[in-house]
Amino acid sequence: IFMSFEGPDGAGKTSVLKQLIPQLKEQTAPTLLLTREPGGDPISEAIRDVILDVKNVDMDARTEALLYAAARRQHLAETVLPALSQGDTVISDRFVDSSIAYQGAGRQIGTQAVADLNQFATDGLTPALTIYLDVPVKLGLERIQTQRQDDYDRLDREQVDFHERVHQAYLEIAKNNPNRVVTVDATQPLVQVVADCLQVIKTHYPQ
Ligand code: C5P
Ligand code: MG
Repeated sequence: IFMSFEGPDGAGKTSVLKQLIPQLKEQTAPTLLLTREPGGDPISEAIRDVILDVKNVDMDARTEALLYAAARRQHLAETVLPALSQGDTVISDRFVDSSIAYQGAGRQIGTQAVADLNQFATDGLTPALTIYLDVPVKLGLERIQTQRQDDYDRLDREQVDFHERVHQAYLEIAKNNPNRVVTVDATQPLVQVVADCLQVIKTHYPQ
């Protein structure tokens, strides 16, 4: 089973997954692999560092989309596909939806173009279940400002419009893929968000 977690900056994906994974391992999926996008293996972590390096602020938007797709491909080939083929459950912290939202809508190079690029990169592999942690732009950025100043400085360089476009794109992805994407209200306290996610996964994959 392949699942992804998605959401705008400050939705709390990383914090939620940190609490959720041990519970899932105990209750539903003993052979569970958590991995993150972009990255998870040395080559795609290296690509991630190039993308997120503050020195590379003037990176062209298509270059950025190609690098994310390249990192994703490597991550699939080296980590995700081998795990899936031996029957493990894999949860990816971000996947193709992030590219559609951030590069396609956020950087405005087109959601369809980015979807096509990623069709090539993934050879069509799609998560069976995507949990989308929804948070309004303002609250998400406030969380990052108080907790992760470095990230906030990088994100703060973007126009508010950028973050609004990312958020809108996520809402649209959720609306257009009702069978795959389940939205969880990430404005709730962390324990409640974790509990909701656990419930969603248990409902989709009853024992
Ligand atoms: O997953 P995480 O939130 O740590 O991602 C790191 C950063 O990479 C985020 O702040 C997000 O803005 C950015 N990102 C992006 N495009 C993607 C995936 C992540 O701009 N496709
Ligand atoms: Mg994170």
